[in-house]
Amino acid sequence: MKVAVYYGVNDVRIEERSKPRLRADEILIRVKACGICTSDFRSVKIRKSSYIIPPRILGHEIAGEIVEIGSDVKGFEEGMRVVIAPGVGCGECAYCLTGRDNLCRNRLVIGANLDGGFAEYVKLPSTYLRGVIPFPKNLTFEEAALTEPLSCCLHGILRANVRIGDTVVILGAGPIGLLHLQLAKAMGAKKVIVSEAVKRRIELARRFGAEVINFKEVDPVQAVKDLTNGEKADKVIVAVGDIQAISQGLNMVKDAGTLVIFGGVPPGSQISLDPNLIHYSEINVTGSIDSTIAEFKKALELISNRIIDVKPLISHIISLDNIMMGFELMERKESIKVIVKP
Ligand SMILES: [Zn+2]
Ligand SMILES: [Zn+2]
Repeated sequence: MKVAVYYGVNDVRIEERSKPRLRADEILIRVKACGICTSDFRSVKIRKSSYIIPPRILGHEIAGEIVEIGSDVKGFEEGMRVVIAPGVGCGECAYCLTGRDNLCRNRLVIGANLDGGFAEYVKLPSTYLRGVIPFPKNLTFEEAALTEPLSCCLHGILRANVRIGDTVVILGAGPIGLLHLQLAKAMGAKKVIVSEAVKRRIELARRFGAEVINFKEVDPVQAVKDLTNGEKADKVIVAVGDIQAISQGLNMVKDAGTLVIFGGVPPGSQISLDPNLIHYSEINVTGSIDSTIAEFKKALELISNRIIDVKPLISHIISLDNIMMGFELMERKESIKVIVKP
């Protein structure tokens, strides 16, 4: 089978490997679509991640078809169309037992500590099968592959505690910002303001009903104040990995509001923060990482029930051979979501 193996920054090699052989407790999935996540992009184009040890097959936004089932595995059928949850917790630690399995320290994460979806086939062990979720025929594999990023955004919007009638600011309108935008609307936000500078992203954000601030043309903090009659936003989601955006976001939240740091920033980054901002304004500052399996299942339902429209986000579909082209498109910010079809 053909695979794309990550060896380090700017070093991804297309290789031929033998098709995985199954043990009795494993299943084999033919990958039909695998999205490129910003975290994959970062590993390939910017810096080696501390938790991915090369050589490793990346790719964790997987939709595929079950092609082989070990003799001990129950509950699956050959030909089933499935999506794969981003990570599966140990099921035993305090986080797993309290429904916060995204924080489990012993998680198996596909494309990180298990080989991922930039390959023709993915083999999954019995301990991972809780994360294999069938999806209905009304979804294409490409659409289904967006379940993973949507599940992370669902986690983010729930961390923000968005409520009906809220004003929500989203910094960044890449796939993650655009999914947060749709979720905020679906949850009844009165107004969603998006800060972005790339034309194609601005157009999409407007199409999904946002008021857009071009942060290269205006001071985004002042613009948020102007758009809210000086009130500022109930909830702010920083959907880019950028220190400056976090600082801006802190000044866009109203008293008792919440800021969610969704995007990772370079290790060792620091922000300066006036503690009085939190003291006098009772602002909540929190983060969001990955999603739980329950949220993953819910994200799939949101897509299959057409509450969230992922299709307009898919800007490029490429072959495994052209995977480097996908990373380059992302580098030039020409893409929204790139899907690899191995
Ligand atoms: Zn991801
Ligand atoms: Zn656990």
